[in-house]
Amino acid sequence: MARIIPLTDARVAQLAGMVPHPSAAPRVAPTGLLADVRGRRLRDLRVSVTDRCNFRCVYCMPKDVFGRDYPFLAHAELLTFEEIARLARVFKAHGVEKIRLTGGEPLLRKNIERLIELLASIGGLDITLTTNGAILARKARELKAAGLNRVTVSLDALDDGVFRAMNDADFPVAKVLEGIDAAADAGLAPIKVNMVVKRGMNEHEIMPMARHFRGSGHVLRFIEYMDVGHTNGWRMDDVVSSAEVLAMIGRQFPLEPVDPTYTGEVAERWRYRDGAGEIGVISSVTQAFCRDCTRARLATDGKLYTCLFATTGYDLRSLVRGGSSDEEIGNYIAAIWLQRADRYSEIRSEHTVALPKIEMSYIGG
Ligand code: SAM
Repeated sequence: MARIIPLTDARVAQLAGMVPHPSAAPRVAPTGLLADVRGRRLRDLRVSVTDRCNFRCVYCMPKDVFGRDYPFLAHAELLTFEEIARLARVFKAHGVEKIRLTGGEPLLRKNIERLIELLASIGGLDITLTTNGAILARKARELKAAGLNRVTVSLDALDDGVFRAMNDADFPVAKVLEGIDAAADAGLAPIKVNMVVKRGMNEHEIMPMARHFRGSGHVLRFIEYMDVGHTNGWRMDDVVSSAEVLAMIGRQFPLEPVDPTYTGEVAERWRYRDGAGEIGVISSVTQAFCRDCTRARLATDGKLYTCLFATTGYDLRSLVRGGSSDEEIGNYIAAIWLQRADRYSEIRSEHTVALPKIEMSYIGG
């Protein structure tokens, strides 16, 4: 298959390796063709709208760390909907085509529909959202009416006991399945269902999940367990590789690969040979996809990160609240992207696990 080489912005060479002070960022016309030092375009923006969650998934927000006393951000520290929409407009001018709202649990942010309306009114953006599904049944219609295109729902098991143990909030599977049905009825399809597989916890749920979603029209995707944040005690031995998952499912239901929809697609696509639909695997650990990563992440408090595993965030909120113009903010975003060289997942090893990292609930999963 022909590989498309992105058109790289010639200004890379001048800015590589340094991000100027926001007030000194050189003018970069928003052509939508911004590319980083590895030639990767800026196409996707993930926005964490809250660092809070009603689940305490053991691999993401373990209860012993995210307990009653955990210092979640105060409301005033969060970007307002108007601030997010303003930044979204600036990002769009620099090439962003898709925005994913995430968190924490994005549906916990009050009046999230209002933010979706503001983003939809910009025009030309694909707007999606990742949720644990807990209150999706109640919200699906309003989300669709506000302009949301699709949802991704996280669900790690079909067995109620396993799921309750993983979400550690005693939340039942049935409610999430209700949410998925409601989302489908509301037209938020095709729905993707994300299952993080952690060895010793839920790998025996791979087949029941595959059987359940086969033929449903929803796309079940298996995510390799990652060493995000500092709190989940990640070990390579806990990772169930995508290759293992595909072999297991393929033994019972033969599979064949499907071409990616676009360069930089996170999930590798497979379909059942008997026509019962598609599944995906996200091999963030065993087959890092940094090479094609086109994602920027706007954390809950307005810091911009260029990698899920980054430690340096760039404060856009102070620009938004400090009187900077859209052009100045755009120039700063461009300067940040032009010097981006991250490729954490390609260099991950047992040794990198101890490096300082940001929690996923804050940076946005
Ligand atoms: N609360 C929402 C949800 O549950 O989908 C959105 C935020 S959550 C952090 C986004 C996704 O990240 C979920 O699908 C979750 O399972 C996944 N995730 C969290 N921690 C992970 C880890 N250590 N490895 C792989 N995926 C992880």
